[in-house]
Amino acid sequence: AKSAGRNTVCFFDPEMQAVVSANAALASDLRQAWRENQFQVDYQPQVGADGRMIGVEALLRWQHPTRGTVPPDQFIPAAEETSLIIPIGRWVLDAACAQLAEWSRRPDRKHLTIAVNVSVRQFRHPEFVDEVMQVVQEWGVPPGKLKLELTESLLADGIDVTIAKMGSLKDMGVALSLDDFGIGYSSLSYLKRLPLDQLKIDREFVKDILVDANDAAIARTVIGLAHSLNLDVIAEGVETEEQRAFLERQGCGSYQGYLFCVPLAIDQLEAFMDRLQEE
Ligand code: C2E
Ligand code: CA
Ligand code: CA
Ligand code: CA
Repeated sequence: AKSAGRNTVCFFDPEMQAVVSANAALASDLRQAWRENQFQVDYQPQVGADGRMIGVEALLRWQHPTRGTVPPDQFIPAAEETSLIIPIGRWVLDAACAQLAEWSRRPDRKHLTIAVNVSVRQFRHPEFVDEVMQVVQEWGVPPGKLKLELTESLLADGIDVTIAKMGSLKDMGVALSLDDFGIGYSSLSYLKRLPLDQLKIDREFVKDILVDANDAAIARTVIGLAHSLNLDVIAEGVETEEQRAFLERQGCGSYQGYLFCVPLAIDQLEAFMDRLQEE
């Protein structure tokens, strides 16, 4: 354990002090951002084997008045630490379901799914399952159009608790995807016990898939695993046609990445989809 003396020394270390104040400033900025509605949800298309759009992933954006757009990797950890991720996460879920409700009334859009990222802190919250049910019912959306992206770090909470919660979500009809798959390989043996619909191959393995034999092997393994467990598989971060073709040869069924489209604000996404329909 750290002694008080060491903590005191750390505190007066100018570099540490700078980190501490930067974090405090970020946390306070986040609270203000939440009060002032500086968050926005962008959507990135996902496409199926035939190249048609099958859905989108909702990606949180912070439009800071002076910092500009702050990427989620830079504020999600702070939002988790301060618990702000709970109301923010609920808001993303609500925005996604509102969008699904709108699309469900349009014959040309009603097949689309929306994937929403769920942080560990959010999933762990005792009300989480009830909240998902409420939001889905309030908007009257078909639950199967909502997909929750979960990460393997949930398993740290204990496999039985996690499976039970996932089971309640599945009973509701919500789809479940395991995000960033391939990183925490240790949980491989648990995989078949999880009530999942999809595995998502992380961009980390897609990036160098054509040049790195290890990454190619991991992608191949994940795709094979998905097939043997009867799960869908989607690759993220697909930037080139060569990467897509390689993944397709391995049996990958769906894709997401800059090759197809970057994440877009809703108006731009609607325009993008209108153009697709005109083609
Ligand atoms: P993620 O869930 O792995 O999301 C995919 C990230 O890859 C997104 O970054 C997306 O913009 C980016 N991306 C997609 N295609 C490509 C590509 O072809 N090339 C490259 N270089 N990048 C691509 P983004 O939007 O910055 O989000 C980063 C992370 O923040 C997400 O990673 C996710 O973990 C987290 N996040 C985003 N929105 C939410 C949210 O609403 N709630 C929670 N809890 N986390 C979120
Ligand atoms: Ca994700
Ligand atoms: Ca990530
Ligand atoms: Ca990822």
